[in-house]
Amino acid sequence: MNGVPASTQPLKSNSLQIRFPKFLRWGMKMSDSSIVLSLPDQPREFGFFVDGSWSPIESREVFERFSPGHGVPVTRIPKCTDADLDAAVNAARKAFDDRRWSGLSGADRAAVLLKAAEGVRTRAEEIAYWETLENGKPISQARAEVGGCVGMFEYASGLARSLHGDSFNNLGDGMFGVVTREPVGVVGVITPWNFPFLILCERIPYILAAGCTIVAKPSEVTSATTLILAEILHDAGLPAGVLNVVTGSGSTIGQGLIEHEQVDMLSFTGSTAVGRRVVEASGKSNFKKLGLELGGKNPQIVFADADLEDAADGVAFGIGFNTGQCCVSGSRLIVERTVAEKFASMVAEKFRKVRVGDPLDERTQVGAITTDAQNTTIMGYIEKGRAEGATLIHGGEQLDFGHGQYIAPTLFGNVTSEMTIAREEIFGPVLTVMPFDTLEEAVAIANDTEYGLAASVWTKNIDKALVVTRRVQAGRFWINTTLSGGPELPIGGFKQSGWGREAGIYGVEEYTQVKSVHIEIGKRTPWVA
Ligand code: NDP
Repeated sequence: MNGVPASTQPLKSNSLQIRFPKFLRWGMKMSDSSIVLSLPDQPREFGFFVDGSWSPIESREVFERFSPGHGVPVTRIPKCTDADLDAAVNAARKAFDDRRWSGLSGADRAAVLLKAAEGVRTRAEEIAYWETLENGKPISQARAEVGGCVGMFEYASGLARSLHGDSFNNLGDGMFGVVTREPVGVVGVITPWNFPFLILCERIPYILAAGCTIVAKPSEVTSATTLILAEILHDAGLPAGVLNVVTGSGSTIGQGLIEHEQVDMLSFTGSTAVGRRVVEASGKSNFKKLGLELGGKNPQIVFADADLEDAADGVAFGIGFNTGQCCVSGSRLIVERTVAEKFASMVAEKFRKVRVGDPLDERTQVGAITTDAQNTTIMGYIEKGRAEGATLIHGGEQLDFGHGQYIAPTLFGNVTSEMTIAREEIFGPVLTVMPFDTLEEAVAIANDTEYGLAASVWTKNIDKALVVTRRVQAGRFWINTTLSGGPELPIGGFKQSGWGREAGIYGVEEYTQVKSVHIEIGKRTPWVA
């Protein structure tokens, strides 16, 4: 590795130890003990990565990240300057134009991606630890996510070898047509704070498989694991300049990236509001191609004939997972009236049993809210729900653990379609319940939103399941399950949830452009006699 390393303070191998956490968790007794990872002794300092070299903080301003679960400083990240951004984009431009990556065979690119998969596997514990510290998600969940990311690299390595175009042998004896796919060029990747590593790995391996070069800008509050991935890819043999990582805020470095004339495509994941800015910036600059994964207000439709126990568990998971800070969280429960009351009680009972607490505790299921701003936003929505007349069935309060910020899984009944909590993306552990009488009504409620990211239906009747799946507008659909996925299945939304698809074969094709090649066979029919 060139220059200074990503970290001046590597993870200590003895950082795993057993301690007895303060009892402040539902469903646990004072005598309960569990394995809890230690906090770092001091914040880990990172550099940023451009053209195969690490640059230290030096005179740059620093962003110090406090763990949302503990309120202690855990990382120090440089605030890159405009010049740093330019250097990163120029490095990616040069690396693309001289074909050091796109000119390799798919097999050679696949070899790097497979080595990177191994690198992620080897450093999984370290990645999960820093993900948990910066994001506040439970360590067990972070580990599972990192495991999934290994699969993304492995799958994308296969796609690097199998990506191909098309041919037309039916154009007559004088003509042969070939359709080729070419990498789109320099890709800017802006990722949010809710799944810093997972969302990154749903994009980076596929973009690399296509042959593109990258400038990645993680959210300022969760940059650590993106920088670790840069180190892993470098160690796996990725040529210098192919992946560059700049750090800093969205309004400075992010805005600079979306406006940059030398960026050919931008993959943005985040709020619909910033998504609009990305579209505007593309129009005002070089019409860069865009991939957008934006907000969601995703329905969970439960019919009376569902396995209600399964459905209640799935619905609780769908909104509790990652504290509801997922674009695909199932935040609107639409349930058949005949079982609505009973089912709401079943979900509330699940909520009561969910273990909310210290993200570093291996038994925790729901961790901390990632940012102060998000905490305030969620509590604001809960207040609005009460004020607009919804009935609080469960939760609704912040949990005081003596440190960090936690919100109890919250369930609102008597919700009407005009209420703010039924319409706007809350991005927190807040579930609204609305009853329906007919399948048509369920579909109408599900589609009554500007978003179309994901949806779930719970029924044992295959006809109902398929009719609902066909009629509800959503890019991802789950039948009798929720929030499942894998590298093979594409991700993306209908309506204002975004453009394009990530992951799966579509996720590589998004980062290519198509060229039609017309080949004359034999002597040309003259135009000029
Ligand atoms: P943002 O959309 O502001 O942030 C997402 C990413 O965009 C971050 O990397 C951020 O950087 C970056 N960014 C912010 N402003 C700009 C800009 N002008 N130009 C380029 N990049 C920019 O989301 P928030 O963090 O503010 O969260 C607000 C709401 O967005 C949430 O409540 C939720 O509803 C939604 N959201 C949806 C996500 C999804 O997965 N679809 C993910 C995150 C949020 P930085 O963080 O460094 O400022």
